[in-house]
Amino acid sequence: MGANRHMSVDSRGRYTPEAAGEAMPGSEGPAGSRSHNLLSTRRASLMQEPVLVLNATYEPINVTAVRRAMVLMLKGVAQAEEMHNTEVHSAAQAHRVPSVIRLLAYRHIPQQSRALSRKNILLRDRNTCQFCVRVFPSSELTLDHVVPRSRGGRSSWENLVACCYRCNNTKGDRTPEEAGLKLARRPRPFTLHTSRQLMRLIGHRDERWRKYLFY
Ligand SMILES: [Zn+2]
Repeated sequence: MGANRHMSVDSRGRYTPEAAGEAMPGSEGPAGSRSHNLLSTRRASLMQEPVLVLNATYEPINVTAVRRAMVLMLKGVAQAEEMHNTEVHSAAQAHRVPSVIRLLAYRHIPQQSRALSRKNILLRDRNTCQFCVRVFPSSELTLDHVVPRSRGGRSSWENLVACCYRCNNTKGDRTPEEAGLKLARRPRPFTLHTSRQLMRLIGHRDERWRKYLFY
């Protein structure tokens, strides 16, 4: 199988990367390159869209990106349960973009498997500073250790909260009580409920997820 297998030819007999669905920056003149860049940018962001991952039992277990979900499908590890109406084109064929996939073999998932991350803490706290209770863009929030690290406070779901820079400054190396600040609510430990909640927040724009997350 030679390179010809992956080539598409337009009406005038020329090879066109676009017809093949492959953006190939730099392989064409200036006229073509702009639309190809646009195409590859759109495709790149599409490949990062969230996909809900279900266990073989239909229990929601994770969220992954389209790119990873398609790899799992191509490997035969998962199958699509819900699809978007969009397609991505590989060299040889078009694939519909998955929205929800299901693992074909049951996988045991330990309770604490979801990584503690800045992104997840901000999601849990809905981008709301837990001291002044105002909503901020992620770039204007930091994570605050409720019990400061210098006092043995741990980096855990129970001791980290979303916090604006101003409140973070006010609080400094003190406990909320010492700084005269009050927590909007006690940070919740990671539970199945947190996990569901995070999946709902990530998938709120995609109604195909709803029936698997019960809302
Ligand atoms: Zn604040």
